[in-house]
Amino acid sequence: MTTSATNSLFAHNALLPQGWARDVRLSWDAQGNLTGVEAGASAMAYESQENFVLPGMVNLHSHSFQRALAGMTETGGEGPDSFWTWRDLMYRTALNITPGQMQAIAAQLYTECLRHGYTSVCEFHYLHRAQDGSLYADIAETARRVLAAAQASGIGITMLPVLYSHADFGDIPLRHDQRRFATDGENILRMFAALESERNGQVEIGVAPHSLRAVRPQQIRELLAALPVRRPVHIHIAEQQREVDACLQMTGKRPVELLFDTQEVGARWCLVHATHLSAAELQMMAASGAVAGICTTTEGNLGDGFFDLPAYIAARGRFGIGSDSHVSQSPVEELRWLEYGQRLRMQQRNVAQASSRRRVGDFLWNEALAGGAQAAGRDVGRLAAGARADMLVLDGQHPNLAELPAVDVLNTWMFTGNDNLVRDVYVGGNKVVENGRHKDQAAISAAYAAAMAELRALPT
Ligand code: ZN
Repeated sequence: MTTSATNSLFAHNALLPQGWARDVRLSWDAQGNLTGVEAGASAMAYESQENFVLPGMVNLHSHSFQRALAGMTETGGEGPDSFWTWRDLMYRTALNITPGQMQAIAAQLYTECLRHGYTSVCEFHYLHRAQDGSLYADIAETARRVLAAAQASGIGITMLPVLYSHADFGDIPLRHDQRRFATDGENILRMFAALESERNGQVEIGVAPHSLRAVRPQQIRELLAALPVRRPVHIHIAEQQREVDACLQMTGKRPVELLFDTQEVGARWCLVHATHLSAAELQMMAASGAVAGICTTTEGNLGDGFFDLPAYIAARGRFGIGSDSHVSQSPVEELRWLEYGQRLRMQQRNVAQASSRRRVGDFLWNEALAGGAQAAGRDVGRLAAGARADMLVLDGQHPNLAELPAVDVLNTWMFTGNDNLVRDVYVGGNKVVENGRHKDQAAISAAYAAAMAELRALPT
C-alpha cells in the first residue's frame, strides 16, 4: 500500500507540454496515472527533489528477439551485403528461438531501453508459431511471453500481433524458413481476442499487417473491419528500394500510394520505415495524420536510405522513433543520428527544427514523444494530469548538466557524448531504475545470458 506522500515528486525543472517549467510537483494515483502537475510549487520535506524531470520516450518499433543478433551480423562476405543477406541471418535465429528464450531476451532488452530513457515500447510481434510451423496450444503463447517480459521489466507496451501471409508481392507462398510467421486474418483475430484480457494501464493491444509484400490490401481491410476502430495499426511500408520497385512492377503503384488507395489511413496508423517516398506520397502521408516510424540506427545499420525529414517537417508530418533491431537502445542516439544523417545528406546544420522550436534537441524529443504516444495508442509522452506517470530523472550532478539552464538540457544531452544521463526512471509511477540500475537487473541479465548461451550452442 503506497501512501499519498510517496506518490509525488518535486522537480526544480520539468518538461511540460508547453515547455520547461520551474518548481513542479508531479502527483499520481495508485493506478499509475498523473493526477496533478503543479508549477510554481514549494517542496515538502518528505518529497524527493530532482533537478531535471522529463517524460519517458516511446520506442514505437521493436522486434525484441532481434536483440540476440545485435553485433552478430557486422562481418562482410564475398559480395556486397544487403538488407536481404542480413534477413537470412535473422531468420536463422528466428527459427531456433524458444518461447522461454524470447521472454528472457525481451526482458533484458526492455531493461536496457528503460535505463536509456524509453518507458514504452510497441512490439511488432511476428514469431507466432512453433519451430515446426504448428500453432501453439495457446495461439497467443509467444505474445504472452513478450508481455510477461514487459511486465517483469516494468515497461509499458503496445502488443501488435503481425499478420504475415506471403513471401512477396503477387501472393508468393511463404518460404520454409518463414513458417513461424505464417498467419491469416482468422489467426490474428483469435490472437487479438485471446490478448484482450491483458489490457490495462500498462498494456494496449493493436495489430500489424507486416507489409504490402506480405499481406494483400483486401486482407488488411477485412482484418480492420473486424477490430475496434481506435486501436493502433502499424505496417512496414517502404524500407528498401527493391521493395518499392517490386510493388511498382506488380501493382503499378508505389507502396504508400497503394496503401492510401486501398485503406482509410489516419491517425491510428504508424508507417514504419517510410524511407522511399515520392513527393506526393510524403504530402499524402503528412496530411493523413499517420505517424512515420523512423528507426535511424537500424536503417543506418541495414543501409536502407534517408527519410526526407525536412520536407516532412515542412508538411507538418508526425513522426516517432523506434529501435527496431536493437543495435541501439538509446533514444538520444536514435534522435542524434536522425539529425546527423540529414546534416550529412544536405551539408547543412540544425535541420530538425521549426519556427515554434528552434532548439534541435527540444524539437526532436517533443515531436518523438507526441508521435510515439499516438502510435502506441496510450496516454503517455506528456507530463499532464490523466497521462501515465512515466518520468525520467536526469543526473543533475553530471558535469554536462550541473548548473545548466533547463532550456539547454535536451541539446546538451543529445549532442554531448555518450554518458547515459538517465539516473532514475518511473513507469506508471513505479521506480524501475534507480541510480542507473534496473531494480531486477541481476536476475534478468542472468536469464538473458543463459538464453544466449543456449542459442550460441546451436549448430549453425
Ligand atoms: Zn521492423
